Amino acid sequence: NQSARPSRVVVIGLGRFGSSVALELVEHGSEVLALDTRSHLVQQFSEEVTHAAVADSTDPEVLRQLDVPDFHRAVVAIGDDLEASILTTSVLADFEIPSIWAKAVSRRHGSILERVGAHHVVLPEHDMGERVAHLVTGRMLDYIEFEDDYAIVKTLAPAAAAERPLGDSNIRSKYGVTVVGIKRPGQGFTYATAETVLHRGDILIVSGRSRDVERFADIT
Ligand code: ADP
Repeated sequence: NQSARPSRVVVIGLGRFGSSVALELVEHGSEVLALDTRSHLVQQFSEEVTHAAVADSTDPEVLRQLDVPDFHRAVVAIGDDLEASILTTSVLADFEIPSIWAKAVSRRHGSILERVGAHHVVLPEHDMGERVAHLVTGRMLDYIEFEDDYAIVKTLAPAAAAERPLGDSNIRSKYGVTVVGIKRPGQGFTYATAETVLHRGDILIVSGRSRDVERFADIT
């Protein structure tokens, strides 16, 4: 049974980003091999991940000895040492690991990582900065933007849309957004339907084009 088999992930670099990735993967049932050149970090996380080892990931021989070429997923969580980040990513690409995720500190770093074989590049600081910008100016409680200017946000129900069923609210035609989920104070999230009546203090999950969800979150 394919789905019951835990996924195995090698995480390279146990700084703030890499250790968060590793611990979250373990929390969700993955087997994690965690590597770092710094022995105190390896020691610190050795009890929490499946395997941890002190290793220089730029050395293909070292990675072979740890069976890294057998992994289907890898995360390169080396940030500031660009040379190590780029070399590690290219070694993993040489191993033909099917899914390589790499952290970049800048867009240029990210495009180099893609060139040497990363399948997914993440820019945590950059992305979080953008996200926070959306939160500080508006009434949004959370904001996630996808490609093509599409976003999902968590926001408070605008008073203007309150006290009538979503089906009669014209929210979709007026604002171009869809209310996907709703949370009443003290309750969990549920799917929104045409019959759902919004109240003040409700928290909404809203999807649509970034500009439209932004506009919707700004109405009161
Ligand atoms: P963060 O900002 O997430 O804390 P850092 O860049 O500070 O990221 O941390 C990256 C980690 O990667 C460090 O713990 C560092 O020791 C580790 N690292 C750097 N180069 C290598 C390498 N060649 N092999 C293995 N680990 C490495």
